[in-house]
Amino acid sequence: MDATNTSQGNNMTTHQDTPGKVPVGSDTGKMDSKAAGMNPYAGLVSGLRAAWLAGKTRGAEHRVSQLEALGRFLDDKKQPILDAMASDMRKLMLLLPQPPLEAELSEILLVKNEVNYALNSLASWMKDEFVEKNLVTRLDTAFIRKDPYGVVLIIGPWNYPLHLILVPLVGAIAAGNCVIIKPSEISSCTEKLVAEMLPSYLDKDCFAVVTGGPAETTQLLENKFDYIFYTGGPQVGRIVMTAAAKHLTPLTLELGGKNPCYVAEGGDLQSVANRLVWGRCFNAGQTCVAPDYVLCSPETQEKLLPALGRAIAQFYGPDPRASPDFARLVSDRQFQRVRALLGSGRVALGGQTDEQERYIAPTVLADVQPSEPAMQEEIFGPVLPIVTVPGVDEAIAFINSRERPLAVYVFAADSKVVHRVLEQTSSGGFGANDPMMHMTLPSLPFGGIGNSGLGSYHGKFGFDTFTHQRACVLRSSGLEALNSPRYPPYSQRKLGLLAAASQIQRKGTCSLQ
Ligand code: NAD
Repeated sequence: MDATNTSQGNNMTTHQDTPGKVPVGSDTGKMDSKAAGMNPYAGLVSGLRAAWLAGKTRGAEHRVSQLEALGRFLDDKKQPILDAMASDMRKLMLLLPQPPLEAELSEILLVKNEVNYALNSLASWMKDEFVEKNLVTRLDTAFIRKDPYGVVLIIGPWNYPLHLILVPLVGAIAAGNCVIIKPSEISSCTEKLVAEMLPSYLDKDCFAVVTGGPAETTQLLENKFDYIFYTGGPQVGRIVMTAAAKHLTPLTLELGGKNPCYVAEGGDLQSVANRLVWGRCFNAGQTCVAPDYVLCSPETQEKLLPALGRAIAQFYGPDPRASPDFARLVSDRQFQRVRALLGSGRVALGGQTDEQERYIAPTVLADVQPSEPAMQEEIFGPVLPIVTVPGVDEAIAFINSRERPLAVYVFAADSKVVHRVLEQTSSGGFGANDPMMHMTLPSLPFGGIGNSGLGSYHGKFGFDTFTHQRACVLRSSGLEALNSPRYPPYSQRKLGLLAAASQIQRKGTCSLQ
């Protein structure tokens, strides 16, 4: 594919506000690369690398100014952002007076929180961390320098198209890197907005946006980056990891999966139902940490179903299609994929669809068998299957028999049940009596494990992800006599001296109390 002439507008964005200036990472770099028969993004990457090597992004002032600019972008462009989200997710917000709460919460508020959290904490995050020493290094200075990686690539998905590129960007900027952002081509309105509006806020020598789909991303990935941060499905995650391996580039993979949700006997099932419907139907279910399926006893299923029905009616009215608060599926492909899952189990609630609008009603599938399609892939839509199990033991065994998910949720009034599920399962995150809340706190790491991902971010974890912890020891050029025990010719006496000065002794017995 000709990288300069795609229908997606595959262009590195250029300066909008300084005509005449030829920015690093502009089309000029791309033309040079093309003329030389090189990778179309080689010029852009080497331009950013030049800025990185010149040290432009290292200083605290530059990081602060770029984070503040990102905050201004979110404030100034709030309405265009909400409009782009509305178009991408067909929330019809433009036509309706209600506040676009979901988009504002997820795409603006949570991102702004991350920007402010980073600005409030940057000075302490950046500080050298002085470490313990032994007798051999007593006179030295030993510390961890928080070094930026260099030129990093952030690849985003379509479901929270701004949040999932900007929150990693906060970490990358805070850590002092140059960054190429590759938004998802599927959420095309947000992609266009990011490409056209974001670059004029950021230092164009250090930050660039590349647009396009798999073909462009493949070409981009041929270049050597110092870190890659990918959010999306596990299948493409493998492709990205393979491309990174060619250059031995470290990476974070934020992937998806099926998040189980065990509902124990008893308790206030209406509250459980409200929280489940909220988590499942937020953004029409297109949320990586949404509760993907429920595990509960047949008795609990019978009691939960009417409560789920009441929650759906209360949130979205008798016809959820008419609700301004219920989103649509992002694409025809996603619509068809999710609709095909409605044949699993029995449709206990909802089930209505409208292909033209890409509408799928909030739907609950009861008595779903583990072998049915709804239990074979991540749902990523407003459909909640229920699989019945006799009790918590079987629920734990079920969870552990599958790939490790991004989140495990448990609803139980008995804290012993909560702690059993916490201790006997493994997942990226965990929530008791509510889904998704763990991802709203910048003080908690957000990420997967196994099939649901590799690495984490948010808050300081984002800073750490984009930071190389450089081990530094500064020694005096004098005091050479102190080094003599380590030099040949070796002797037993020298070994004794070295051992005495550097050995770590066990401190008594370990108490588990
Ligand atoms: P995707 O894997 O299709 O695409 C993600 C990105 O990869 C896009 O920018 C796309 O252009 C690029 N891409 C697609 N095919 C490619 C290829 N062959 N080579 C190189 N690049 C390619 O993912 P998606 O459908 O956009 O996102 C949905 C998935 O993302 C779900 O599984 C969801 O659970 C997961 N997700 C995870 C998180 C998280 O934080 N862990 C957040 C949101 C979404």
